[in-house]
Amino acid sequence: MQVPMLDLKEQYQNLKTEIHASLEDVMSSSTFILGKNVKKLEQDVADYSNVKYGVGVASGSDALHISLLGCGVEEGDEVITTAFTFFATAGAIGRINAKPVFVDIDPKTFNIDPTKIEAAITEKTKAIIPVHLYGQMADMDPIVEIAKKHNLAIIEDAAQAIGATYKGKKVGELGTTACYSFFPTKNLGAYGDAGMIVTDDEAIAEKMSVIRVHGSKPKYYHHVLGYNSRLDELQAAILNVKFPHLDDWSNLRREKAHTYNQLINEQLSDVIVTPFEEEHNHHIFHQYTLRVQDRDELQSYLKDHGVSTMVYYPKPLHLQPVFEYLGYKEGDLPVTEKACQEALSLPMFPELKQEQQSYVVEQIANFYKEKAKA
Ligand SMILES: *Cc1c(COP(=O)(O)O)cnc(C)c1O
Repeated sequence: MQVPMLDLKEQYQNLKTEIHASLEDVMSSSTFILGKNVKKLEQDVADYSNVKYGVGVASGSDALHISLLGCGVEEGDEVITTAFTFFATAGAIGRINAKPVFVDIDPKTFNIDPTKIEAAITEKTKAIIPVHLYGQMADMDPIVEIAKKHNLAIIEDAAQAIGATYKGKKVGELGTTACYSFFPTKNLGAYGDAGMIVTDDEAIAEKMSVIRVHGSKPKYYHHVLGYNSRLDELQAAILNVKFPHLDDWSNLRREKAHTYNQLINEQLSDVIVTPFEEEHNHHIFHQYTLRVQDRDELQSYLKDHGVSTMVYYPKPLHLQPVFEYLGYKEGDLPVTEKACQEALSLPMFPELKQEQQSYVVEQIANFYKEKAKA
């Protein structure tokens, strides 16, 4: 049996007629930039996030970059975040010549550890970027409290967490802004790059929507330095077809996650830790990520037996060559560094079959059996 990490083909086949009609409509109307599809998606995603404004941009990475600019973060400022995330989180900070300040993570959720934030604050700190990793929101109450006390913006990196909740609050409700990615592999994926920022702050929303069109308002009059970063109308047309299915898909992911939990905990609880879901969180399982022993060996065994898996993330950001100038060294973020050795994500998508899940866990069990014999 072959089990891919992700298979987008079945979803496309199911929605093909509607998607083609939606694309055809855009092409016939020939409004390709910031047309009615982008407008509709911005409104729908803002409503879904319980906030007023959505600003469609070219990618999740640009959503982070433009959020920082929208929140007034400038060269030389410091922004606190985690080193256990996709590169773009810290890349966005570096791109504006601000300084990423990394704090360690909570070993259970892999999200930023709020108890470590205050010690990292200096007078240059302007913002915190909590990342809602794998589809579970970070522990927002203490983060909101610290941000209030020190007058910091909160930019939620929600690239993996559209639809997740924390104590009944949606992504976007607790941050100054929240950033979504519609990269094809995300829970709500376009057929190319796309992203969106949501916020309840009118002035910030306005500033960000000007920045994405070269800082131009009215057209050809420039008061701020922006650039070209718009959510493409054709991508929005696809996303408008997919968006009404998002919650169903995320619920299917949750079911698959609970099936994995059950299968793994029955027989492998001594060598594997299944994902920890805070009771007050609604986890949307963008990734289903285990902590395992002998991770690299297990991964290559699974590969040989037809099961693809991924390591998110093998190298923490504080030890990446591009951030060498920040002066971090091995041992600075021990919980993060350990997670980089142990994390393994299993195949996860709404169309994943029960037989595939059983096969994956059977192969994992075989690996540890063979290992015990050797
Ligand atoms: C995917 C992702 C991004 C970047 O989104 P793009 O749309 O690929 O630019 C940022 N942060 C996290 C945590 C992500 O997973």
